[in-house]
Amino acid sequence: AITATGAFLYVTQSEAHPGTQLEQDPTKPTLVVLGSGWGATSFLKNLDTDEFNVVVISPRNYFLFTPLLPSVTVGTLEARSLIQPTRFITRHKKRAVQVYEAEAQDVDPIKKTVTFQDISEIKGTTASVTVPYDYLVYAVGCENQTFGIKGVTEYACFLKELTDADKIRQKLMDCIETAAFKDQSQEEIDRLMHMVVVGGGPTGVEYAGELHDFLIDDLKKWYPEVADRLRITLIEALPNVLPAFSKQLIQYTESTFRENKIDVLTRTMVKDVKEQSVVVQDANKEIREIPYGLLVWATGNTSRPITRNLMNKLPGAQNVRRGLVVDDYLNMTGADQVYCLGDCTATQYAPTAQVASQQGQYLAQVFNKLGQKSKFERDLAAARATGTAEPAEIESLVKKLNRVAKVNPFHYSHQGSLAYIGSEKAIADLPLFNGNVASGGGAAYLFWRSAYVSTLYSIRNRTLVMADWIKVKLFGRDVSR
Ligand code: FAD
Ligand code: NAD
Repeated sequence: AITATGAFLYVTQSEAHPGTQLEQDPTKPTLVVLGSGWGATSFLKNLDTDEFNVVVISPRNYFLFTPLLPSVTVGTLEARSLIQPTRFITRHKKRAVQVYEAEAQDVDPIKKTVTFQDISEIKGTTASVTVPYDYLVYAVGCENQTFGIKGVTEYACFLKELTDADKIRQKLMDCIETAAFKDQSQEEIDRLMHMVVVGGGPTGVEYAGELHDFLIDDLKKWYPEVADRLRITLIEALPNVLPAFSKQLIQYTESTFRENKIDVLTRTMVKDVKEQSVVVQDANKEIREIPYGLLVWATGNTSRPITRNLMNKLPGAQNVRRGLVVDDYLNMTGADQVYCLGDCTATQYAPTAQVASQQGQYLAQVFNKLGQKSKFERDLAAARATGTAEPAEIESLVKKLNRVAKVNPFHYSHQGSLAYIGSEKAIADLPLFNGNVASGGGAAYLFWRSAYVSTLYSIRNRTLVMADWIKVKLFGRDVSR
């Protein structure tokens, strides 16, 4: 996660020209970028905008550092420490970039247009616009998978966006305050203080770990009357949590959770979600109901409606439900000049920030070469037109052209996986010494912290995150709502 994502974040802003940007040029091709997440941000960060009129469209006008998002749910970190405005990146570009806070509603790959809508509460005179593109970079990510299970959207909290983390924090404190209310019945206290997490992937595990820390470090001090009633249950349909990690780390996580009194119900499938309970089918195929106060739903990803709509427009070429099919150069199959990256694609790679950021970086290099190619072609045409250019000059331009015309396929370099599991312990699966090194515990925790802090977007983010950690160490988490 570390060096690869770090590489994108550390690229120096050599083309920083705030205030002296070139204006957009109608003779240059229009490059529309959808999204402001890991894929799109890595792409923008590494792109030379000189040869393109770049337009960014995203309902979120900032980049969110998702790996530390679980820490926001209990107040270990403040939400704003993890975000960076998209305009921070674009204002440093050589040529001006247009940024619209809007949601793309439709992509027409035949007419080569994008229709997008203003989703803000305050409505201006224009709500929906269609723009043409010469190139489209499609990086809209995914939405939460619910498998169509009834009640999930209505009663559960997701953990994907900043607003989700904030909602969890509010609901958690609501449960605790209500449980501490005068003369609350014992049964109701037990329900309210039961926090259920569905999905034993890294999101669910990291959330359960953070919740445990909050209980031990803070709840016991601030709410001694109800703290001991807090129970955390993690429900996972498969035989174990964290299927993507090595066996040793799965066992380590499960035993740490046992020590931390987090109940892990494996081979247990949630079938229905009610307002105050979840209906599960356990390993013996028995159906039972588990009351909860807070339910966090972390069962992975599914394609967004706009992506499914795009697939349906190209039924012959796009026939994988999981996501958009791309070739080795991230070119969308069946669509001309559309490039897709990150979670919205169906590739051999897991949907991770690491993959999305490497793809963004790769694609920016492809576009940088494309831009250089147009420039060298123009220079060559001009040199030939003068009729006085030296043969050596022409030859040098032809060589440069041939060099930039060569594009290698995308190659992913896995830098390892890290996850925080609570009580100042983390797990790390690292590809080292021609093999895999698995490590769990306090040292992995320090590594996890330093890896993520160094991968954060900017010095500002790093300062804020470290200040939050120090603040929590000194004063505890803030329990006010
Ligand atoms: P995203 O980062 O989700 O970005 C999608 C962008 O598209 C967003 O800006 C969104 O607002 C925008 N968008 C949505 N709809 C539209 C639309 N209609 N039009 C225009 N724009 C749109 N991965 C790791 O490698 N390591 C980790 O430690 C890790 N931790 C994680 C922790 C959590 C809690 C979560 C939820 C995920 C974590 N991941 C981690 C996974 C990682 O966040 C994703 O794989 C990554 O965000 C994918 O990047 P992306 O650019 O494809 O999508
Ligand atoms: P996931 O797909 O990794 O895990 C979801 C889990 O939910 C699965 O194990 C699945 O068996 C379980 N599940 C599905 N339906 C269920 C049901 N009805 N009842 C009980 N269990 C059910 O999802 P995630 O954890 O959100 O991760 C999404 C992606 O983001 C992954 O690629 C992951 O690697 C990445 N991510 C990485 C990190 C990290 O590296 N630290 C952290 C968070 C997310």
